[in-house]
Amino acid sequence: MLDPAKIRQQFPIFAHYPQLAYLDNAATTQKPKAVIDTITNFYEKGNANIHRGVYGLAVQATQQYEAVRQKVAGLIGAPKPGTIVYTTGTTAGINLVAQSFLEPRLQAGDEVVISFMEHHANLIPWQMACKRTGAKLRVIPMSQDGILDREAYRNMLSPRTRMVALVHVSNTLGTINPIEEMISLAHQQSIPVLVDGAQSIAHFPIDVQALDVDFFVFSGHKMFGPTGVGILYGKEAHLAAMPPYQFGGDMIRDVAFEETIFAEAPQRFEAGTMPIAGVIGLGAAVDFLQTLDKTEIRQHLKQLGQAAREELQRIEGLRVIGNAAQATAIVSFVMENVHPHDVATFLAEDQVAVRAGHHCTQPIMDFFEIAGTTRASFSIYNEMWEVEQLARSLKNIQHFFSV
Ligand code: PMP
Repeated sequence: MLDPAKIRQQFPIFAHYPQLAYLDNAATTQKPKAVIDTITNFYEKGNANIHRGVYGLAVQATQQYEAVRQKVAGLIGAPKPGTIVYTTGTTAGINLVAQSFLEPRLQAGDEVVISFMEHHANLIPWQMACKRTGAKLRVIPMSQDGILDREAYRNMLSPRTRMVALVHVSNTLGTINPIEEMISLAHQQSIPVLVDGAQSIAHFPIDVQALDVDFFVFSGHKMFGPTGVGILYGKEAHLAAMPPYQFGGDMIRDVAFEETIFAEAPQRFEAGTMPIAGVIGLGAAVDFLQTLDKTEIRQHLKQLGQAAREELQRIEGLRVIGNAAQATAIVSFVMENVHPHDVATFLAEDQVAVRAGHHCTQPIMDFFEIAGTTRASFSIYNEMWEVEQLARSLKNIQHFFSV
C-alpha cells in the first residue's frame, strides 16, 4: 500500500504548511526534496552550458542533461533515448507536432480529429494549422457524464483524417479516455495519433510502445519536476522526417550564409540554450517516481477520487461535473447560487487550495452551460483527511449562503 503520510514528508512545502490541503495538483504538483536538491546542487556545483564546452563542468553538465533522456525513456517505455525531445512543456510539444509534423502534410479539405474535452493547448494549435491550410477540425462529442462518444469517433475517421489528438485524462472532468482502443481505431486507417499525457503521467504507468502511440507529450511540473521543462516522445521515423520547428544555436550541424545543415533529431528540435537545470531536475523527478509502485499510485488516487465524489455528491445544492466510471482523482463541481471563485476563496480560508474557472477548457463549460467550476485535484501525498477537510468546508459554505 502507498503510504501518503510518508511520501508527504519528502515534500518540504508541507513542513511549512502542515495544515494545508493542497488540492490543485492538476495545475502543478509540489516538489520533493530530492528534486529541489538536485537543482540547487547543479547551480552550486555543476553549472555550465551544454554541448560546446570542453572543460570539466561543461562536459559533466552535458552528460547529466543527456542522461535524463534515458531515464525518461525508461519511465514511458520508449525504445531509445533519441525518441525523447526536451521541450518547455506540454503546450510546446503539441505546437511542435502541429507545426512541424502535421502542417506540411495538411491540405484544404483534410481533417484533424480532437475531442470535446481537450485542454486549449490540445485544441488551438490544431485549429490554427487547419485555418492556415483550409483543413477542418472535427470534434468527438461527449455525453452529460463526460464520456466520449466512441461510435461517433469511429464514424469520424476517414481517408481525409490526417491526425487524431486526444487528451488521456481530462484536467477538468477527471475522465480517463480509452486511448488504447482509440489509437488502434485510428491506426486501422494509418492515421497518426498524439496523446496529451499532461494529467496521466503522474497517475498511471505509461508504455508508449504498448500503446503504439505516435506522439506522447507531458510537462515536468505536473509530475513533481520543475516548471519550464517538458517532454515530447515521438516515433523515431516521424521525428527523423520532421523539419526543425525553431532555428538558432545548438540545432545545427553546419552553417553557412547560403545553407544550413540541421542536426539529427532530437537535437534539431532543441534550439538555443535549453532549460538545463530543469531537465536535470526532471531526471530527479523521474527517479523519485520510479521509487513508487504505479499500481499503488493508481489505487490510491482512485480511492481519493471516489471518496471525494461520494462526499461531494451528498452536499445539498452541489453538482459534480463529469461522472465517468473511468475517472481519476480530479473532481469538478458547482455550488448552486455561489460563484466558483467565491467557493475557492472560502475554501482557501479553511486551508484548502483548489482552482476555480474554466481550467483552459471553455468548450466543456459551454457544454454544461456554466461559467466555470471549482476543481479539487489530488496527488500521491494527499490523504483522506483532506477529502474530509474539503467536504466540511464546502458544507459550511453551502450553509453560509443558504441562510
Ligand atoms: N493538457 C492538459 C490536459 C493539461 O492539464 C495542461 C495543464 N493544465 C496542459 C495540457 C498544458 O500544460 P503546460 O501548461 O504545462 O504546457
